[in-house]
Amino acid sequence: MNQRTYVMLKPDALHRKLMGRIISRIEDKGWHITQMKMMTLTEDILREHYAALADKPFFANIVETMTSGPVVGMIVEGDSVIEGMRILIGSTRWYEALPGTIRGDFANNTTCNLIHASDSVDSADMEIKRFFGE
Ligand code: ADP
Repeated sequence: MNQRTYVMLKPDALHRKLMGRIISRIEDKGWHITQMKMMTLTEDILREHYAALADKPFFANIVETMTSGPVVGMIVEGDSVIEGMRILIGSTRWYEALPGTIRGDFANNTTCNLIHASDSVDSADMEIKRFFGE
């Protein structure tokens, strides 16, 4: 089923100059990047985007790292891309992310785990609207 998902390279991916290698993984898979932009996030938009985590003790770390530089937001389209992209990025905790996944191969920290991808059809719709206004 053709789907669209929201993917975001986090500031640590840019600090570590991994942008090209991560984007290649998405292109290698055959999905299409149909929109892309670099932007700097505010605490307000992060409170919205990560509302489910706002009361966690590590939320301040999320805000600090996610505002430490620009992010690259993308809309990625393709067959079963929502679930497929979650598998490609790997588990949230860097040490549980399997080799071959983006986090499994490159991440060494749970807060700075390089990449975000929507986890359901509803969140993909909401996040595309939030970051691309569509
Ligand atoms: P995912 O990004 O895999 O969808 P979550 O939505 O659970 O995972 O969490 C959002 C982001 O919050 C994670 O990608 C990570 O940057 C950060 N995070 C989640 N859990 C932790 C944790 N236990 N310690 C530190 N940071 C965390």
